[in-house]
Order: sequence, then C-alpha cells, then structure tokens
Amino acid sequence: MAGGMTSTMFRPRTVGEAVEMLAAAHDSGAAVALLGGGTDLVPALRSGERSAEAVIALRRVLELRVRGAGADSLTIGAGATYTDLAGWSLSPGLARAARVVGSVQIRNTGTVGGALGSVRPAGDLLTFLTAADAEVLTASPRGPDRMSLPHFLADGLAPDALVTAVRLARPGGPQVYLKIGERQAAYPAVVSCAVLVDRVRHRLTCAIGGVGMLPARMGQAERYARDEVDWSTGTVSPPTARRFGDLVVEEAARVAPALPAGPRGSVEYRWHAAGVLAGRAFARCLHHLTAPAAGDPARGSAAGGQR
Ligand SMILES: Cc1cc2nc3c(=O)[nH]c(=O)nc-3n(C[C@H](O)[C@H](O)[C@H](O)COP(=O)(O)OP(=O)(O)OC[C@H]3O[C@@H](n4cnc5c(N)ncnc54)[C@H](O)[C@@H]3O)c2cc1C
Repeated sequence: MAGGMTSTMFRPRTVGEAVEMLAAAHDSGAAVALLGGGTDLVPALRSGERSAEAVIALRRVLELRVRGAGADSLTIGAGATYTDLAGWSLSPGLARAARVVGSVQIRNTGTVGGALGSVRPAGDLLTFLTAADAEVLTASPRGPDRMSLPHFLADGLAPDALVTAVRLARPGGPQVYLKIGERQAAYPAVVSCAVLVDRVRHRLTCAIGGVGMLPARMGQAERYARDEVDWSTGTVSPPTARRFGDLVVEEAARVAPALPAGPRGSVEYRWHAAGVLAGRAFARCLHHLTAPAAGDPARGSAAGGQR
C-alpha cells in the first residue's frame, strides 16, 4: 500500500486493542497510521506522500460508530461515516453538512475521525464543528481525554492517541451550512460556511473554511449579530444580513495563517465568496427563527456549484 513499501495491517476490535496496538507500534519506533475510511490516507500512501510501516484499521471497532444523545449534548463516534450523519434528525445542520460531502462513495466511506485527522482547510465537517464549539474525545495509554477543537487543531494528537468521538451541544436554533465547490459532489469545498443560532443564549456563531489554513470563527460578525438581532422576535432589519456579510469579508481577509492563492480560487475571490455565503446563511437562519415551520430554504440552494 505504501508506495512500494509493505505495511503491516492491524485490525483491532475495541478501542482498548487499538490503543495497545498504537502504543506498541509507537514504542517500537515504527511509522504508524490510523486508517478510517481511507479516502485521504490510501491515496497518500499510494503516491508516497505518506508512508507507514504499520496501519491500524479502525473499521471493525464498532464502539467508534456509536452516536449518542444526552440532555444537552450529542456525541458522534470517530468511526461514523458521512452517510451515518446525513440522516441524523437530532442535528439537522450537521446532517446537511454531511449530505454535501463528495460523492456517495466518499460519504459511505469517509469518517468523522478521518475528517479530524486530515484537517482540510475547508473540510465540511471541520467547518461545521468549528462553528459548533465542538470537543474532541481521545484515547491513549493514559486513558480517555477531551479537548476543545481549537486546542486539538493547534496542538494535534499525541502520537500514541486516537480520536474516539466528537461532542457538540444539541442544536439551540436554526443552523445553515453552505459551500462553494469547483465541481459539485466531486471535490472538497473551495469555501465553506456554517452559521448556528442559539435562541436560548441569544448567540450566533459563524465559521468560514477555505480562507485560512484552518476553518476560522468570525468573532466580529458574531458580536454584531448578537447586538443587532431582536432576540424576542428573531428579526433583523433588512440591511443587517448584508452588513454581516461585509464584516465576514473584512474578517476573512485577516485570518492567519492565510490559505495561499491556488488553482481553486484567488485569495480575493475566497474572501468575497465567504461574505456572500455568510450573508445568505445568516438571512436563512433568521428566516427560520421568524418562521420555523416554513420549510427549509437552505435545501433549495444547490444551484451553480453552491450548496
Ligand atoms: C474524491 C474526494 C472527494 C472528497 N470530497 C470531500 C468533501 O466534499 N468534503 C470534505 O470535507 N472532504 C472531502 N474529501 C476528503 C475526505 O473524504 C474526508 O476528509 C474524510 O472525512 C476523510 O475520512 P476517512 O475516514 O476516509 O479518513 P482516512 O483517509 O482513513 O484518514 C485521514 C487521516 O485521518 C487519520 N485518522 C483516521 N481516523 C482517525 C482517528 N480515529 N483518530 C485520529 N486520526 C485518524 C488518518 O491517520 C489520516 O491521517 C474528499 C476526498 C476525496 C478523495
């Protein structure tokens, strides 16, 4: 599998076994890789971009596929696939983000753990989880642990640890996820945007993927929304969504480290696209807030490469 080099494949059945295998491989000094669905790792091993003497395949670890709901939170196992999430009624925003990932094959195979392990700058799940203030649950020889998503993204995982799950708050209001891709259903997004509203805490969060090396929160726009939304009715004055989008453009331009210009869009195009998506997602969320029973306008947004 590994570009001419042979890897030994391990197939644990429990998280405990996976941790033991990971620790043993790590202690022996072997280059080791965790394998979720393999949509990112297998091409990287084949091309030689990555190499591994030991590969620990997590697919048979059934406890990693569990999804659970507590009074206030949702827990999603690292082995859950996008298809597992796509129909999950407990988190419609997350389900929407999962439904617009890649092709059906990628959705059936790609996992939550792999999305965190790959850290794509505009990864659909990563952008959504950034807006959702998610926590990352891990396991290592030192036992289970948890950390905030920004901490996980900044520091990475210890070499003998794996992601077991992510945890996020139950939705507290409307959630909209939008992305712009070069070709629908074939590639990861160029720019992605998640807006989540919490009616109880009078809070709106917004994350943008595709402008920085990691999805980034738009704190200035979030504060503007907190002050401008009439939380008793869930309404805003008409220019507010435009101003929200403008603030996101300004903030996207300040995200550091910035994602350099590439074949998939100039830097300026991505800032502009971030503002358009954010303004639209904001307006849709507040429409939901005003008239929650009026259907889901975000479903009709699949035109022109934007979903
Ligand atoms: C054609 C194509 C289209 C795609 N489209 C999209 C798209 O639209 N949106 C999008 O967001 N992504 C897309 N992707 C990227 C990819 O599918 C996702 O990043 C996916 O979530 C990766 O999951 P996986 O299980 O396949 O990961 P793998 O390939 O198995 O692993 C990826 C990385 O994560 C690590 N890893 C896996 N599991 C764990 C764990 N439990 N703990 C710690 N580390 C772990 C691996 O070691 C590896 O470094 C696309 C990829 C392809 C090839």
